[in-house]
Amino acid sequence: MKIEVAIGIDIGGTNTVIGVVDREGNILAETSTPTLTNTDINNYLNTLTSKINETVFHLNGTIEVKGIGIGAPSSNYYTGEIVGASNLGWGDRVPFVKLMKEFYDYPVIVLTNDANSAAVGEMMYGAAKGMNDFIMLTLGTGVGSGIVANGKLILGHDGFAGELGHVIIDPNGRECGCGRKGCLETYASATGICRTASELIATTKTESKLRNVPALNFTSKMIYDAAVKGDELALKAFEITGKMLGKAIADFVTFSSPEAVFLFGGLAMAGDYIFTPTREAMEENMCFLYSNKVKLLPSKLDGAKIAILGASAVVWQEMKN
Ligand SMILES: [Zn+2]
Repeated sequence: MKIEVAIGIDIGGTNTVIGVVDREGNILAETSTPTLTNTDINNYLNTLTSKINETVFHLNGTIEVKGIGIGAPSSNYYTGEIVGASNLGWGDRVPFVKLMKEFYDYPVIVLTNDANSAAVGEMMYGAAKGMNDFIMLTLGTGVGSGIVANGKLILGHDGFAGELGHVIIDPNGRECGCGRKGCLETYASATGICRTASELIATTKTESKLRNVPALNFTSKMIYDAAVKGDELALKAFEITGKMLGKAIADFVTFSSPEAVFLFGGLAMAGDYIFTPTREAMEENMCFLYSNKVKLLPSKLDGAKIAILGASAVVWQEMKN
């Protein structure tokens, strides 16, 4: 019998990664091709589709493709278009799904938000298997989120639902890339914890190895390594970050009453250093209705493969619906 697979495609600014993924989340084949930017979209589509066909061909008739899921910047799930992605240079409005469908008979789906596809990936292949209600928070350079409620990803009327990283947690707080102040992402991201460490250096006398590093060179990994060695300032930076994050999660929970909240991404890799203060602050600030009910868990997906896993998972989700 042929193995049912979904093709997950992640279109990045430089490269496009293609993965052939089965229902269990095993990647049967993976390849990549340059994202041809500032060119006629058809040039890119020809390269992309021949790469897909070649990959499928190499699997030698052992698979049955059920659909293609695509993660692309500024794309709209509902219309299937990529709109205003100036870095790609394919024009203002590209009917990407429609164009892909000229090559393939099976369903083609686009999704823009990485955290949304990560959430679907977690539900199909990861630790959220069998869960109908959960929130995925991706703690990378920024903070992304995907909300699954009643077994469905919440997309909203325009497809942009689930931007919890831009919930204001301190109106007089740090300036955010979105133009406002005090968004969660300015605290609970890799860049956020670096800002916190710099502030602690400037405003406290706490001794720290991090004082020898110019603030501009800070990385969250550096702060983690210092914390592991017991560096007081680094530990404090994690505690502050966890406090902000946990308090925010306590509020998020009121919206959809999730069974679990998953943390994914660089900062989540810090394990107990981030999970313990986050869990504490979450329970401390939780409305009694949800007290001690919501699990805070690490994602079980391979961080390096999340883009294609997430994109492919969207196909299974779509078939379920
Ligand atoms: Zn913001």
